[in-house]
Amino acid sequence: MNDPIKEGLARGWKVHGPGQRALPELVDCDVAIIGSGAGAGITAELLTRAGLKTVIIEEGPLRSSSDFKPQREDIAYASLYQEAAGRKTLDQAMNILQGRCVGGSTTVNWTGSFRTPKDALEVWAAKFGLSDFTESRMAPWFEQVERRLSIAPWQTDPNENNAVLKRGADKLGIPSFVIARNVKGCWNLGSCGMGCPTNAKQSMLVTTIPAALDRGATLLVQTRADKLLINREGKVEALVCTPVELDGKAAGPELRVRARHYVVAGGAINSPALLLRSQAPDPHGLLGKRTFLHPTVANSALLPDKVEGWAGAPLSIFSDHYLHQGPVDGPMGFKLEAAPVHPGFAATNLGGFGPALADRVRQFPNTQVMIALLRDGFHEQSAGGQVKLRGDGTPQLDYALNDYLFDGVRRAYLAMAEIQFAAGAQSVRPVHEQAADYKSLAEAKAGIARLDLRPFVTTVGSAHVMGGCTMAADAGRGVVRPDGQHWQLANLSVHDGSLFPTSIGANPQLSVYGLANRLSQGLVERLGGTPEALA
Ligand SMILES: Cc1cc2nc3c(=O)[nH]c(=O)nc-3n(C[C@H](O)[C@H](O)[C@H](O)COP(=O)(O)OP(=O)(O)OC[C@H]3O[C@@H](n4cnc5c(N)ncnc54)[C@H](O)[C@@H]3O)c2cc1C
Repeated sequence: MNDPIKEGLARGWKVHGPGQRALPELVDCDVAIIGSGAGAGITAELLTRAGLKTVIIEEGPLRSSSDFKPQREDIAYASLYQEAAGRKTLDQAMNILQGRCVGGSTTVNWTGSFRTPKDALEVWAAKFGLSDFTESRMAPWFEQVERRLSIAPWQTDPNENNAVLKRGADKLGIPSFVIARNVKGCWNLGSCGMGCPTNAKQSMLVTTIPAALDRGATLLVQTRADKLLINREGKVEALVCTPVELDGKAAGPELRVRARHYVVAGGAINSPALLLRSQAPDPHGLLGKRTFLHPTVANSALLPDKVEGWAGAPLSIFSDHYLHQGPVDGPMGFKLEAAPVHPGFAATNLGGFGPALADRVRQFPNTQVMIALLRDGFHEQSAGGQVKLRGDGTPQLDYALNDYLFDGVRRAYLAMAEIQFAAGAQSVRPVHEQAADYKSLAEAKAGIARLDLRPFVTTVGSAHVMGGCTMAADAGRGVVRPDGQHWQLANLSVHDGSLFPTSIGANPQLSVYGLANRLSQGLVERLGGTPEALA
């Protein structure tokens, strides 16, 4: 098995940081990109194709397929995720998963790929003035990305964990579909969340970042972008960075990156945090607000036969039935999918302790886990969270779980139970501290109706963080212009999931890729580079 990162380093890639070349004190370039995930990767490839001198700054480590071979959860979560996969909302009620390594969240994500849904784009046009972001105007940008990243519907049969969703939905007459994935020659191993050991996942780690490095980009790893130095005329003059250990502690003297233009692509939460730390202008008090999560709840079900939900493509079937039962700004809708059942992830997220947890662990081989991703950000009672800074400048998301959301949670528990029983489940348990293993749908209905829905007893998590640097047609409604440029800072753009004005009701990576593709090609033109399409 080849290792494209080792091969690239041997070819002379300019990578600086621990274990690589020494970090310079000062770097000059045309464009500095903060982050190396979904938005950053697409941007880096396009800028370097256009002949612009590009520096990529990533706070996480450079890891590759050889490092992912043990497929060990303890190693992966500690080294590839923000806050060792333990990032929490301010009140600690929700766990948030985000990547922190070269490739960002794309290195560890589950590969499901959806274009931005039409109803979300319509709300962006109506409420945020983004009238040029229609389905048909976005289509070419998505087509290019889909070609570049080999995005296509999954060809192989779903694993049993996903098949339960399809079987149950079919029985109830609920439409479900095959998910498109960004994979090439996938071995169907199922450990996408620990980094792909076969380089099949077309993440930024094996596609756009290597392409940019081959064209001469410089990559600084384990280097945190701390602060932008902004002058009185509203121009960014430099970026101050700190070398960091894996746990985020400073590991050396600060360094500076000077660029003609800066692209912030640290992901939702971290991008607004960098702008907050830099005291970027925010005349309308919008920065860090409207941060969305697709709050996600789960049901586990016990099946008579083996499910082995740790093996096989983690996401391959979805149903949007419950997103389309009312208006987008009505009661909260939800998307149904399955979640992988790796022991560490499942034991910590499925709740319980002591003998009950031990029993659940014994039952893992027969356990199916269904998830409902709740579409936040479309209703007045769903205004999203707010990114705040701790005393040491690190970010924290204040996101309140309210009754509007919990109404959706109760309906989601019930919808998932109906599908799981229809697929042959012997028992179903919503992941809620008061829930029991309900043995029939009638029992589940009665039990779910009685559940006390409030933070901490209701397990809610998220791997989809969006918003915080809202894109909008005027400065009164957004932090960033429709071309990605900051409304007040002429030489700074944002190209990542923090741009979304709402959540979208679909797994977000392809939306980030498509937007970054469109915005980067515009940026290339503004900077006088030679425009070139992504694929
Ligand atoms: C476990 C998991 C599963 C997922 N599954 C799917 C899926 O199946 N389908 C899907 O569509 N989406 C999925 N997602 C979400 C998807 O991957 C993200 O929405 C997407 O990658 C976000 O892109 P981004 O550019 O906004 O940020 P990211 O891809 O998260 O990249 C941000 C990068 O910036 C770096 N960074 C942040 N701040 C700084 C700083 N100050 N200095 C230097 N570097 C910094 C971070 O370390 C990170 O590497 C999943 C996410 C996770 C965590």
